[in-house]
Amino acid sequence: MKALARYGKEFGGYRMIDVPEPECGPEDIIIEIKAAAICGADMKHFKVENGSDQFNSIRGHEFAGEIVKVGAEVKDWKIGQRIVSDNSAHVCGTCPACEAGDFLCCEHKVNLGLDNNTWGGGFSKYCKIPGEILRIHKHAIWEIPEGVAYEEAALMDPICNSYKAVAQQAHLLPGQDVVVFGTGPIGLFAVQVARIMGAVNIVMVGLQDDTKVRFDVAKQLGATHCVNGSTEDVVARCTEICGRDNLGLVIECSGANIALKQAIEMTRPNAEIVRVGMGFKPLEFSINDITAWNKSIIGHMAYDSTTWRNALRLLKSGAIDVKPMITHRIGLSQWEEGFQAMADKDAIKVIMTYDYED
Ligand SMILES: [Zn+2]
Ligand SMILES: [Zn+2]
Repeated sequence: MKALARYGKEFGGYRMIDVPEPECGPEDIIIEIKAAAICGADMKHFKVENGSDQFNSIRGHEFAGEIVKVGAEVKDWKIGQRIVSDNSAHVCGTCPACEAGDFLCCEHKVNLGLDNNTWGGGFSKYCKIPGEILRIHKHAIWEIPEGVAYEEAALMDPICNSYKAVAQQAHLLPGQDVVVFGTGPIGLFAVQVARIMGAVNIVMVGLQDDTKVRFDVAKQLGATHCVNGSTEDVVARCTEICGRDNLGLVIECSGANIALKQAIEMTRPNAEIVRVGMGFKPLEFSINDITAWNKSIIGHMAYDSTTWRNALRLLKSGAIDVKPMITHRIGLSQWEEGFQAMADKDAIKVIMTYDYED
């Protein structure tokens, strides 16, 4: 079968390669991929050549599929079930994060479809869910509820990131306001969760590129205002819209240093800033205001099984709407066009399905 893989330790190194179909051990599950989405985490390797010939991983960590094989010792799952993976492949089971059921924060974790995994990922025909993970973390896969399509379930990863950031990590109360930086899928799902949580003003902050597609979708999904950081004074506009006293939560999904700076500036005392985005440059400004005004910057990584349980229900009920965000549906063989559409911000989410002959 074909698989979109990555080579090397440094950024970059995508190649479409031939790999053997995965073998099913006694505790393993093999799924046939029905839908896989391109994530921002995949984008940072696009069009980067690192010159390495060392295999890293099969990519694609946002995927859903049908169980086509189960090992002889598998009791909880059967052939034909529609499932979505939380992309965990290996965790230690004994560290403090694992003890708390926070498996995606295990320092020894290996993810399906991300770096250094040998099991596989969603950008291929089949993927193995290793039996070992299901022994330690039973909720590593979830059955897709009736009425939810594979392509919708494939977006559970960004949905759950947003749910955890807004609903579990912050202390948002109905009647308050939320500013969301970054118009990618996590930002757009954060808008939806803020709406469900009863925020009054939900302000989406983006850039000029976002005026093409993403601002309209943000409004459709619940943003009350969109602020263009390329042309507007972001701090002044957000304060004007919300009133400083109502602005106690910023969900920062852009990863830009300037966004973190603006978030600290615009918020009231005791505010929370959940930092979902990742930036790779050191900060060039003081964060003393978080001390002076008792503000918190909360780091965000992934989700837990409570997130998954509740987010799946919101998806099934229609309270979380995925459809306006799926802008492109393509075959895996057209992966480069899909990545390019993401890079150009013409796409929000690109769903790929396996379209090779073998
Ligand atoms: Zn992702
Ligand atoms: Zn652990």
